[in-house]
Amino acid sequence: MSGSVLTKSAGALYASRLARVRQSMKSQSIDAALLSVGHDLPYLTGYYAMPLERLTMLVVTHDAVAALIVPRLEAPRVTPFDDVFKVVPWGETENPVEIVAKQLGGAKRIAIGDQMWARFLVELMGFVSGVNFVRAVDVVGSMRMAKDVDEIAALQAAGAAADRVATQLQAGEIKLVGRTEAQVSADISARLIAEGHDVVNFAIVAAGENAASPHHHAGSRVIKHDEIVLCDFGGTMNGYCSDITRCVFIGEPSRKITSAYSVLHAAQAAGVAAGVVGATCESVDAAARKVIDDAGFGDFFIHRTGHGIGMEAHEEPYMVSGNKLLIAAGHAFSVEPGIYLPGKWGMRLEDIVVATDAGPLSMNNVDHSLAILN
Ligand code: ZN
Ligand code: ZN
Ligand code: ZN
Repeated sequence: MSGSVLTKSAGALYASRLARVRQSMKSQSIDAALLSVGHDLPYLTGYYAMPLERLTMLVVTHDAVAALIVPRLEAPRVTPFDDVFKVVPWGETENPVEIVAKQLGGAKRIAIGDQMWARFLVELMGFVSGVNFVRAVDVVGSMRMAKDVDEIAALQAAGAAADRVATQLQAGEIKLVGRTEAQVSADISARLIAEGHDVVNFAIVAAGENAASPHHHAGSRVIKHDEIVLCDFGGTMNGYCSDITRCVFIGEPSRKITSAYSVLHAAQAAGVAAGVVGATCESVDAAARKVIDDAGFGDFFIHRTGHGIGMEAHEEPYMVSGNKLLIAAGHAFSVEPGIYLPGKWGMRLEDIVVATDAGPLSMNNVDHSLAILN
């Protein structure tokens, strides 16, 4: 029965991750970790909390078995791993925060997941005293950043699926001229699903002057001839995310655009090349930015060079000036410099890269040039 084998190995995986969380808690004198909505909880248990008003929370302490406190009506969705955590269902008339407080066993230093509703933390503060709260990213973040082989394989599969859609875009298979950005965005989204994604996280389509806004929301703007179209899209496949940006030009690009694009292309390659084990995150940003600065476009590169990616589309580590964190094997992140001329055009080029001991490994392998369509 392959299903039970999988379940058993998943249980072992979660048990080993929880053991590492406890080690990290111990080394930082953290008595308890509370993980709720967000991705730390499924990373440690396989269970995704519904982002609703009812409390779901994993309570991790040193001596007791971890407790997953869930609304009784959602308990059937939990896949139990008896060696990893116990399930504590709560009924509609109970106060779940009080139940959490009872599991804490007098903890004085408590790590809180970033995405827990503020409401629950505020209510919890009424049940405990003399407690010092810290961020759970301090105990789970470094583990989540360093992807294991299975996680890298999942990122690769998601990247390959996004690549197939990007290839369709570059081949002119996705009709652009005469359609609105929103229509093209819906088309790209459908193709991401058709290529194997479970959900689409975003499909930015920005034409002409709209491409100068990095997170432009695809709207009613009709795409025309003789303009650049920036497409940045990604989704989640088997729990891991893809994220890719490619630009196409419909017609004959001006020399200004082709020369700016060659700067962008070189900047992106420099950023990827800098993403080696032992380098700082900020050096990836600096490497890409230097190429753009040197070409005189520095004022038009208005965001950091990249973000980490994994179970979340944006997570640590961030490739940004000031981030002295050292890149380690398994760190997965985007390298996505851009050049944005307000009111005129914009361009960005993005791949996901995983740092390995053998050098940067790209999850995206689609042609990097500005595809010219007619
Ligand atoms: Zn973004
Ligand atoms: Zn992107
Ligand atoms: Zn990105």
